[in-house]
Amino acid sequence: MSISVKHMLDRKGRDVVTVSRDATIEEVAKILEQKRIGAIVVTSLEDRIAGIFTERDLVRCVAKEGPAALSNPVSSAMTTSVTRCREETTLNELMEIMSSGRFRHVPVESGGKLAGIISIGDVVKARIQEVEAEAEHIRAYIAS
Ligand code: AMP
Repeated sequence: MSISVKHMLDRKGRDVVTVSRDATIEEVAKILEQKRIGAIVVTSLEDRIAGIFTERDLVRCVAKEGPAALSNPVSSAMTTSVTRCREETTLNELMEIMSSGRFRHVPVESGGKLAGIISIGDVVKARIQEVEAEAEHIRAYIAS
């Protein structure tokens, strides 16, 4: 049985750093640096997911438009078709979602609202725990 997103969130917490769509890209860049994170979820009223903006998007818009891009609203450069997961999603499913979508962040949605976020770092950590637990199980089985 693969670990669930619920299990991962119970351990890491459900707080997500968010901004509204009118925050500037410069404000968002400062938040990413201060919070030491790679992605921010853009929300509309009532914690509904409106988009996601990651360090990749920052690089892309600055490379395209130069420093002037920093004054634009985050909504001008965010990804709006956000792939989400649910608390019941498994670690194996998440690995497949991130690998096929080529992104490293997946917001968790519950009842239509933002309920957490899983990064590729969380996935690697959970996978290591899973492998260690499997190895321990096999060792115990062989010893018995
Ligand atoms: P990342 O690897 O997470 O930095 O994201 C790479 C690109 O995919 C960026 O353009 C992001 O806006 C986009 N992206 C990140 N996470 C998601 C997601 N869950 N659904 C859709 N696009 C995403």
